[in-house]
Amino acid sequence: MAEVVIVGGGIIGLCTAFYATQAGHRVTVIDRNPEQRDGCSYGNAGMIVPSHFVPLAAPGMVALGLKWMWNPESPFYIKPRLDADLIAWAFRFWRAATPAHVERAAPILRDLSLASRRAYEELAALPDLDFGLVRKGLLMLCKTQHALDDEARGATRARSLGIPADILDARQTAALDPDVTMDILGSVYYPRDCHLSPDRLMAGLQRRLQAAGVRWLWNTEVTGWNVEAGRVRAVRTNGSGGEIRADEFVLAGGSWSTGIGNGLELHLPMQAGKGYSLTLPKPRQLPRLCSIFTEARMAITPMGDTLRFGGTMEIAGLNEDVNPVRVRGIVKSVPKYFPEFRISDFEGIRPWRGLRPCSPDGMPYLGRPARFRNLVVATGHAMMGLSLGPITGQLVTELLGGQSPSIPLDLLHPDRFA
Ligand SMILES: Cc1cc2nc3c(=O)[nH]c(=O)nc-3n(C[C@H](O)[C@H](O)[C@H](O)COP(=O)(O)OP(=O)(O)OC[C@H]3O[C@@H](n4cnc5c(N)ncnc54)[C@H](O)[C@@H]3O)c2cc1C
Repeated sequence: MAEVVIVGGGIIGLCTAFYATQAGHRVTVIDRNPEQRDGCSYGNAGMIVPSHFVPLAAPGMVALGLKWMWNPESPFYIKPRLDADLIAWAFRFWRAATPAHVERAAPILRDLSLASRRAYEELAALPDLDFGLVRKGLLMLCKTQHALDDEARGATRARSLGIPADILDARQTAALDPDVTMDILGSVYYPRDCHLSPDRLMAGLQRRLQAAGVRWLWNTEVTGWNVEAGRVRAVRTNGSGGEIRADEFVLAGGSWSTGIGNGLELHLPMQAGKGYSLTLPKPRQLPRLCSIFTEARMAITPMGDTLRFGGTMEIAGLNEDVNPVRVRGIVKSVPKYFPEFRISDFEGIRPWRGLRPCSPDGMPYLGRPARFRNLVVATGHAMMGLSLGPITGQLVTELLGGQSPSIPLDLLHPDRFA
């Protein structure tokens, strides 16, 4: 069994630690943040989404991005700036956003999502790991005929991939979720989708890993690598431990992975897609299901007695500042779909922000780069990192054990842009 160092203590790092310890490896997790942290894996919308089989790089996204670029409250925004990495990323995104790419990507994303959903059901059955998994499905709520037609086409494609999807009118939608008043034309219902409380999941995983003997290095930044003849020997850190040696290394640093991997010449193009969420502790109404406001590109998730609203994709570099104009865009959309809610409900609610790690083709980076025999890259999950966390951890563990991955990883290869 191997000594494994995992760089990054987000959902990908913790799920990898979970399955790697189960397989008998000795695991160290390094994170530059303290044990109490609130990064991307905490305040997200908590959705497990087999319905999301279309990658971010899809036809129409470039035109939408250009249209929304001029609206500061829009849900998708690329901050124009003269940055060679951003320009190269945008070019690759444009090249990837084709029907052929979506066609190739969809079955893999489906298989990853369904396997991850099964893994979440197994995790939820563990006696001391309660993270509020709700298996009631997801509603794509539409206000306009255009959006509903679009979603109906998505539902047809979903069914052809074996993912159940129902097209509902407003009355049928209200019957499914009678606890919330909706002002919509109709919806598409994906019964296999689920939701959970990400903060509880992260805390629960951390507790279990602690008990399993995982070694934590908090407040410890990985600053470089010590490599020799096709192997990583150690990571360099700013911590008191200095260099940390191991047999195997996993790069799971989320949006920072490109920078962390710089010394390894890995070529992992990535942009941080900033999103925000606001959680109402005592919402006026509490839906039973999670939903997406389709035109506004917002995710709404009941978590216990609270209700979380998340949205926006802001490509604006690796900064974690809160942009109040974009937060206002989220808040203003709420009463348009849920008319009982008021903009004033959000007064005093502190916005959370997180940086989604976005590759230019919308697919995660998962696999062993050719340059190093003992390194696995696991990052770039964009809007699906929570959903795909467990299957990612399982696949990384298969690679660590020298097995062939149970799901083909060709489209996710970390060298695909090298
Ligand atoms: C508003 C919003 C809603 C979302 N909703 C959903 C959803 O409903 N479903 C879903 O599946 N996904 C969702 N996501 C996406 C999901 O949250 C991310 O894909 C996921 O959290 C990424 O996890 P990660 O482990 O790759 O990265 P992170 O959680 O960012 O973890 C990376 C870790 O690496 C550490 N690190 C960075 N640099 C270093 C260094 N040099 N040394 C040591 N450590 C370092 C960081 O401190 C961090 O803890 C949402 C995201 C947002 C913003």
